[in-house]
Amino acid sequence: MKQDFAARLTAYARLIIRAGCNLQPGQELLLSASTDCVEFARLLVAEAYQQGARHVTVRFGDEKIARLHYENCALEVFEHFPEWQALLNNSLAREGAAVLSIISEDPLALTGVDQRKLVANARASHEACKEFYDGIDQGRVVWCIAGAAAPAWAQHVFPTLSPEEATAKLWEAIFNTTRVNEPDPVAAWQEHRASFDARKAWLNAQHFDALHYTNSLGTDLTIGLNTKGLWQGGGDVTTAGTEFFPNMPTEEIFTTPDRLRAEGIVYSSMPLVHHGSLIQDFWLRFEGGRVTEYHARTGNDVLEAIFAVDEDAVRLGECALVPWTSPIRQSGILFYNTLYDENASCHLAVGQGFPDCLEGGQAMDAEELKAAGVNKSATHVDFMIGSADLNITGVKADGASIPVFRDGEWAFAPIDA
Ligand code: ZN
Repeated sequence: MKQDFAARLTAYARLIIRAGCNLQPGQELLLSASTDCVEFARLLVAEAYQQGARHVTVRFGDEKIARLHYENCALEVFEHFPEWQALLNNSLAREGAAVLSIISEDPLALTGVDQRKLVANARASHEACKEFYDGIDQGRVVWCIAGAAAPAWAQHVFPTLSPEEATAKLWEAIFNTTRVNEPDPVAAWQEHRASFDARKAWLNAQHFDALHYTNSLGTDLTIGLNTKGLWQGGGDVTTAGTEFFPNMPTEEIFTTPDRLRAEGIVYSSMPLVHHGSLIQDFWLRFEGGRVTEYHARTGNDVLEAIFAVDEDAVRLGECALVPWTSPIRQSGILFYNTLYDENASCHLAVGQGFPDCLEGGQAMDAEELKAAGVNKSATHVDFMIGSADLNITGVKADGASIPVFRDGEWAFAPIDA
């Protein structure tokens, strides 16, 4: 029998603080949440103090106020990131705070706002908060993103239900996908982490030079992989050895491909919500690792804005493998939120790559990483390309080819890690 809602909500907060952030006694926590989940934020703060947090800094955002900013402030306002906000992010990252973001926004809260303002904001924030983002990219900062149900989001997911029913159903989906309904959720996540190791071990042992993707949507894309590339997944660990889960849920095994090598065409297989706007039915053509042509039936301007963030926003930063039978896909729910939807499908991301997906990458500076094939950008946008008939073939440097995915599923037997 399922525990009552309040007990499971507390269990979820505990799971996020203990497994997601793996918060240590005496550590600081920076919590970002939206005004539509204040109650849940309070639970998280209580759990953090229960775990021995030194202090919790809470930053609330409000999507309706954010929209008012974008509608009323001039473009140049977004080109200058507020100094106090940069100081907050950078100093807490420097002092070793864990960074927790709770996502609950209406996926389409910012539809129709001037995309140039969003791009300017992303760019300015990335520049001003360099220490903060470097701390994350170089494995010094523990960070975690998890979801919380709120009516506006829930009604996009379950449009035929009342706001109350939709919110309850979305919480249920969150609890299911994050294993909160298991008897011991924290232990269930440790087991989940271990379950990735055998597949990662197989992939890392292959040393593929490239992956070739095909399906009936029209995808025919070859992505070059880095010589010293590593497959990651199932959780992360800081350079100091603290295990944490950057995303809850997570079902993906991923790497950072060679920023200079991608050839062919890829079709999206699910709608993508980016910065509060919908992008749907799109394809991208890659030449020499760059997107050279693209089109979206819905939200082409949003796609255009993603590629305009900076010079290397047109290059790949991630390729991730998720079987078609992933529990999130099987739930049949389209969340309109990448945190969930990327775990239902093989996906790629343009923009920033992951230094920890390269041997020794976390000790390299930006130039060394770039030279080794890891992309550098102020953006990172995942988009879903998996389908029931997706085939992926691994190609080795000597030309040998080995099935990785057949008909949307793993095509190899995992090996002992
Ligand atoms: Zn991913």
